Amino acid sequence: MFSYRHAFHAGNHADVLKHITLLATLRHLMQKEAGITLIDTHAGAGLYRLDGDYSQKGGEAEDGLFKLLAAAEKLDALPDPVQDYLEQIASFNPNGQAKIYPGSPFLMHKLMRHASRDRLRLFELHPTDSKSLTANIAQLEAGRTVTVSREDGFEALKKILPPPPSATGSKRAMVLIDPSYEIKSDYSKVASVIQEYLKRFSTGTYLVWYPIIPRPEAHDLPKRLRTLSNQSQKPWLNATLAIGRGEGDEGGLVASGMFVINPPFTLKDQIRQALDMVGPALARGSGKNWAVESS
Ligand code: SAM
Repeated sequence: MFSYRHAFHAGNHADVLKHITLLATLRHLMQKEAGITLIDTHAGAGLYRLDGDYSQKGGEAEDGLFKLLAAAEKLDALPDPVQDYLEQIASFNPNGQAKIYPGSPFLMHKLMRHASRDRLRLFELHPTDSKSLTANIAQLEAGRTVTVSREDGFEALKKILPPPPSATGSKRAMVLIDPSYEIKSDYSKVASVIQEYLKRFSTGTYLVWYPIIPRPEAHDLPKRLRTLSNQSQKPWLNATLAIGRGEGDEGGLVASGMFVINPPFTLKDQIRQALDMVGPALARGSGKNWAVESS
């Protein structure tokens, strides 16, 4: 437990899929005037150096963000969600080179509306990462609209749902569930908490990231999420991206998925357009390496 540090992986192919899906979902949710509670159950440190010791060790952004940036340079126009993602990253790197990678808490904060309309609730259990997250968030001077708690995000969310009414009286929530799956039980935990969250707040939008690896629990998770959504009669979307194994690269993660319950109706088309560009840009082999399916 706690050997996972997101700094080694920031900006990799999984972050590209996760954060493009997150931003496209948020853009749609923000079109409604009503306030919304945004929750990140596994928030990480918030900001990462792409030229720091951690990322040098893994260099995973090379096969993610940096490959995407190189491919984007050769195109006249990008699909909107890709353009949006790259613009958000660029806004953290005013000097041009991508040296800082914003994690999900900062991307969510960028899109939330202020004047107390939206709230952001962040949970991170790792002692060092939760300290870094607290310090990084403090710089935003966001007051009580953004909170950081060193708590188990799975359990903490049970206490938040249904979300309290916002300043505009609405009860809306978007939840990102992005565990490290360091412990095998995380897979069944995700399925069991989703079942409970849907009972407590069935209209929330839930985004679950999962790794695609040859383990039965990992293989079963999207199937279980699909069954739970269907049983609750809630729409769902499942997007996957696989970059393929490189030469000499034996152990690393090469594929992942995002499962979204109650996705915006626009999301399927948007993610398809995005992956149509991102998929080939990040592929190490030939053949179609992405898929988007929905209910
Ligand atoms: N969501 C972040 C992003 O996209 O930028 C990355 C999060 S990283 C994949 C997963 C994080 O969950 C790690 O920082 C880990 O320390 C933390 N973590 C592990 N178990 C947790 C738990 N039960 N509750 C809250 N955080 C946890």
